[in-house]
Amino acid sequence: MDDGPAPRGPRTERWRLFIAAPLPDWLREEIDARVTPMRSASPHARWVHTANLHLTLAFLGDTHPGDVPQIVDAMRGAVSGRGAFEARIAGAGSFGGGRRRPLVAWLGLEPGARELVDLMRSLQVLLGIPPEERSRRREQVHLTIARDAAPDLVERLREIIVPPLPAWVVDAIWLYRSHLGSGPPRYEELERAVLAGGDGDG
Ligand code: NAP
Repeated sequence: MDDGPAPRGPRTERWRLFIAAPLPDWLREEIDARVTPMRSASPHARWVHTANLHLTLAFLGDTHPGDVPQIVDAMRGAVSGRGAFEARIAGAGSFGGGRRRPLVAWLGLEPGARELVDLMRSLQVLLGIPPEERSRRREQVHLTIARDAAPDLVERLREIIVPPLPAWVVDAIWLYRSHLGSGPPRYEELERAVLAGGDGDG
């Protein structure tokens, strides 16, 4: 039997979704203060807007809004039985750097990386992300600072985390809808799943 034309209107609506651990406002502001002098020295890099700094745990891409409840269930499953944990920005690194994959410069995490990788793996299983999509790169916990960056920018990122930034407590993971347009994307918080002992206030 012919299924007829593809569904139109709201049934074909797609939201660009991802799950991330947010950074507290004070930490984003502190990173911004340290990164700002670098921006004018590397105006060609695409710098992540301060308000958008976050640690990505799973990128879902274009998703039917009707799938949000299942995604939230997966987030709750992933945090179940896990406690809030301490994290601190530490180290810097990069992805890419070739002609086809422009260099992405990021800051790392220690402590906190192991707990975030555990959460990522749990989410991948509960969201049904196939093993072939679980690349090692995606398991590298990273705070993207700039894209299309020059190689020396990574060295300079290492310098700006001396003295070390204060630690904070990761107490929730958030589901975001990303609105792309001209200028920086706008991230809309849809839901959050709180780790044991946390209040998830961000
Ligand atoms: P996005 O594309 O909606 O992505 C949201 C998050 O999901 C990103 O943090 C990214 O993590 C991750 N992600 C995106 N695509 C992915 C993929 N194919 N596989 C795995 N993870 C993926 O929003 P965005 O990355 O913030 O920005 C989108 C575009 O806007 C970029 O080209 C960017 O250069 C441009 N833009 C961004 C800003 C900003 O402040 N963010 C400012 C101006 C322009 P990662 O952090 O690991 O990449």
